[in-house]
Amino acid sequence: MQIMITGGAGFIGSNFVHHLSQNEDYDIVVLDKLTYAGDMENLKEVRDKIKFVKGDLTDEEAVSRTMKDCDMVVNFAAETHVDVSIEDPGIFLKSNVMGTYNLLECVRKYDVERYLQISTDEVYGSIEEGSFTEESNLDPSSPYSASKAASDLLVSAYFKTYKNPVLITRSSNNFGPRQYPEKLIPLFITYALQDKSLPLYGHGDNIRDWIYVMDNCKGIETALLKGKLGEVYNIGGGNEKTNLEITHLLLKLLDKPKTLIKNVDDRPGHDLRYSLDSSKIMKLGWKPEFTFEEAMKITVNWYKERFKC
Ligand code: NAD
Repeated sequence: MQIMITGGAGFIGSNFVHHLSQNEDYDIVVLDKLTYAGDMENLKEVRDKIKFVKGDLTDEEAVSRTMKDCDMVVNFAAETHVDVSIEDPGIFLKSNVMGTYNLLECVRKYDVERYLQISTDEVYGSIEEGSFTEESNLDPSSPYSASKAASDLLVSAYFKTYKNPVLITRSSNNFGPRQYPEKLIPLFITYALQDKSLPLYGHGDNIRDWIYVMDNCKGIETALLKGKLGEVYNIGGGNEKTNLEITHLLLKLLDKPKTLIKNVDDRPGHDLRYSLDSSKIMKLGWKPEFTFEEAMKITVNWYKERFKC
C-alpha cells in the first residue's frame, strides 16, 4: 500500500514515518518543503526505507506527481507556530489553506482511497469548563488556528460536494523527540540545558492538554485505517497541565533552578484552556499507552542526548 505523507520531515510527521516504517505493508513517500521546521535529520534512521520528495504543497505539479499512485494520503504539512502567524499570517493561508486545497483537488483526480487531514484542538478555541467534542463549534483565536479551521472546513466540503474520501483528526499539544525547539517543551529544555532564562507567557496559568507524540501517531493510524469517511476524531492525551506546571517539571527533570523562569508579556489572543473529549476515537480501540511522566522522561533524555552542552 503506497502512502503519501506530507510534512514528514517535521515533528509529528517524522514520528509517524518512523512508526509506519516498522510495517513492511507500507510503501512510504514523503513530500516536504523543508522549511526551518523540517529536518532530514529527523528521517535519517528510516531514509533507506522511504522515498523523499522535496516539494511545496502549493506546487500543483509536484503534489500531482507525488500523489498519482498513492492509495492513502496523510497531510501533516503546515506552518505551525502561533507566534509566527501573529507576525506573518500570509504564509499560513498559503501553505495551510491553499496547500490543503491543492491536495484535495489531486485526491479528486486520482484513486486515493483515504485522505487524512491532521488538525488541532486549537480550531475549537478556548474552553473554561468541560471538553470539546467533534460537534463543538469552531472558534479559532489566532491566524494559525483560523488557517487550520479553514482547511478543516474545506476538507469537509470536499466530502459533501465531491465525495472525496476524507477524515480529520484533531489532537491536543504534542510533545516528544524531533520537535524544532521553538515551542514550549523543546524550547525550555534546550534553553535550560544552556542555563538560559525561560520566557514564560504571563503567569504560566494557560492550560494545555498534552499528548505524547507516539500516542498521537497511533491514534492517527487508527483513524486512517478504521475511521468512518467524512468524520472528525479528537485525539487528546488527557494530561491537562498549566504551562507553569510543565516548566517546573522540566526544571526538576533537568535538575535546574526555578530562578531560570522569566515571566514575559502574554501573547495577544492567548487561549486560556484547551480540552478534548476523545471518546469517539477510543470507540475505535485507541487509547494512550504512555504515562505523562514516562513520556516526559523519554523526551527530556532525547534532547539531552542531542544538545549536549
Ligand atoms: P512542524 O512545524 O514540526 O512540521 C511541519 C512540516 O511541514 C515541516 O517539515 C515543514 O517543512 C513542512 N511544511 C510546511 N509548509 C509546507 C509546504 N507549504 N509544503 C510542504 N511542506 C511544508 O509541525 P508539527 O508540529 O509536526 O505539526 C504537524 C501537523 O500537526 C500540523 O498540521 C499541525 O497543525 C498539527 N498539529 C500539531 C500539534 C503540535 O502540538 N505540534 C498539535 C495538533 C496538531
